[in-house]
Amino acid sequence: MRRPFVVGLTGGIGSGKSAAADGFAALGAAVVDTDLIAHQLTAAGGGAIEALRDAFGNAAISETGALDRVAMRERVFADPSERQRLERILHPMIRRESDRQCGLAEAPYVVLVVPLLIESGGYVGRCDRICVVDVPEQLQIERVLRRSGLSSDRIRSIMAAQASRETRRAAADDIIDNSGDLTDLRSRVETLHRLYLALAAKSG
Ligand code: ADP
Repeated sequence: MRRPFVVGLTGGIGSGKSAAADGFAALGAAVVDTDLIAHQLTAAGGGAIEALRDAFGNAAISETGALDRVAMRERVFADPSERQRLERILHPMIRRESDRQCGLAEAPYVVLVVPLLIESGGYVGRCDRICVVDVPEQLQIERVLRRSGLSSDRIRSIMAAQASRETRRAAADDIIDNSGDLTDLRSRVETLHRLYLALAAKSG
C-alpha cells in the first residue's frame, strides 16, 4: 500500500483537534479521524457489532442494532477488565480501518486524528510528525462545558486520565496554540500546512 506522509494530530479533550482538523481539510489535507471510525464501527450495521455481540451478549447492543454506549460505558467503568476486552476488539479494527483510509488518501498528506496518540503509543510509530493542539486547562474546561452537557467534575476526571499538558507538549514536533479565536487558529493551521506540504514533498 502507498504510504502517505502522516501527521498525527492530538490534544486533550476540548483542545480543538476537530477545529484544527477541519482547518487542515479545508486547505486540502486528507483527514482520518479515529474517533469517527470508532463511531462507525459501533453504529448499527458497523463492522464491530457482531464481534461485540459475541463478546458481551445482546445486552450490549441496542434495539436499533448499534452498540448501547450508555450500558457499555457503565460496564467498563465498573470493571477495567471489561474495558480491556472491549479495547482488544475495537482497537485492531480502528487501526486497520485507519491504515486503509490513510492508504487511499489522494491528498499531499494525511492528518490522522488520534485523541490518545501520546498515551496509547500505538500510532506514534506510523506518524511522520506529531502535532499537538494546546490550550491552558481552564480554557479546555470552559470550551468543553460550552460544547457538551458534561459537568466540570466529569471533564476534570477525563483530563486526569489523559496525558498531562507537559507530557503532550514534550512529545510534539509542532504545537498549535489554540488559546486565541478561530481566525487565529486558522492562520496557525495555514502556517503548518505549508510546512507539511514541504515535508511531504521531500519525503515522497
Ligand atoms: P476536540 O476535538 O479537541 O475535543 P473541538 O475542536 O471539538 O475539540 O473544540 C472544543 C470546542 O471548542 C468546540 O465547541 C469548538 O467549536 C470550540 N473551539 C475550538 N477552538 C476554538 C477557538 N479557537 N475559539 C473558540 N472556540 C473554539
